[in-house]
Amino acid sequence: MQLACSECGARAGDTLFCIACGGLLAFALDPGRYDATALRSLFDRRRGSNDPLDTSGVWRFRELLPPIARENVVTLRENVLPLYDARVGADYANATHASYVHLGMNPTASFKDAGMTAAISHAKAAGARVAVCASTGNTAAAMSAYCARAGIAGLVLVPAVGISAAKVAQTLDYGATVAAIDGDFDRALDVVRSLDPARVAIVNSINPYRIEGQKCAAFALLQARDWRVPDWLVLPGGNLGNTSAFGKGFREALALGLIDCVPRIAVVQAAGAAPFSKLFREGGDLVPVRAHTTATAIKIGAPASWRKALAEVRTSGGTVLDVTDEEIADARAIVGRDGIGCEPASAASLAGLRALRERGTIGRDDDVVLVLTGHVLKDGGYATAYHESAAPFANHIRSTPTDASLRELIDEVTASRV
Ligand SMILES: *Cc1c(COP(=O)(O)O)cnc(C)c1O
Ligand SMILES: [Zn+2]
Repeated sequence: MQLACSECGARAGDTLFCIACGGLLAFALDPGRYDATALRSLFDRRRGSNDPLDTSGVWRFRELLPPIARENVVTLRENVLPLYDARVGADYANATHASYVHLGMNPTASFKDAGMTAAISHAKAAGARVAVCASTGNTAAAMSAYCARAGIAGLVLVPAVGISAAKVAQTLDYGATVAAIDGDFDRALDVVRSLDPARVAIVNSINPYRIEGQKCAAFALLQARDWRVPDWLVLPGGNLGNTSAFGKGFREALALGLIDCVPRIAVVQAAGAAPFSKLFREGGDLVPVRAHTTATAIKIGAPASWRKALAEVRTSGGTVLDVTDEEIADARAIVGRDGIGCEPASAASLAGLRALRERGTIGRDDDVVLVLTGHVLKDGGYATAYHESAAPFANHIRSTPTDASLRELIDEVTASRV
């Protein structure tokens, strides 16, 4: 696999950005080297194996990743992705069927693990002693867990306010050093970008190994569906690394002959952090904004991977839109009603499906996969506040019932059964 600039195509070495134009780097796969039937049966056979590399939904696809010696692979059995039927969610969006692929069911409870296993394994192979990231919480938790496994010191830069306490607590548990900076995520990422990659391993999604790990979510999803391609994949967009990773994974699966078409990709942003959605509507270059949204994992005003993500959305015939914080909050409550649950940012996908059904962009009978990016327990404070509010799907705690009122309550609960 060759590392090259994703913008000008120049071959790249050990830098983080292209020396010629400053663009992000990306690995290029040569699909001519593989046989699709042999690959499929190899990947399918590995699902029954107990080899730690085979049980990982990233390393199971190792032929399609930059080579890393087995002794350097740091894995926590990431990317083993459950697919759930979205019964209540589909109904809410006025669609006949949809399913959730839950990337929150990862070792540290977000999709960031799939990228981090690749980035930290590479850092270990390269002899790195320190790994650094800027984070709204989930990248920090994932990096610290993999650093703990690898024996690498972790340093994370997080915004001092407005990120979930559970994510910070997780990061502290894994033993990383947390530095709260006076500013938002975009500011923290600027600081990280100015560091010397020769001294520290920078593992934000500008790191091409992160994208290689995350693209495997596309392979794992296709494999879980017996390689049947959905019509649409709907996912939240923040820094847009995940959009570029899913797009790359589907494109490579197509080029390899594992599938014969790609799903359309719909990216959903929060209205207060929607520079990519604006760009998609109006054209031109991305104009950064000061981000405001209670979906903190996508509170990003200057997404680093917008060029890559735009190319992926366009090639797939997809779309980009934004939804309000209220729409996200209600959609998150609905995902809970399916017995699944997710953190706020993840619910942008269901809110997005609902909006795209209203516009008619997505057909009622289309086969839609909604990407849930993080676990419900990532942001307990948000859920509590929702249920204490007057929001449409708020579920209030009842005050201490007497014997008589308890009988009434049982009748009420019985009647409300769906
Ligand atoms: C990181 C993250 C996102 C955004 O992904 P990008 O790759 O930055 O677009 C969405 N949801 C959750 C839960 C995340 O942790
Ligand atoms: Zn370049």
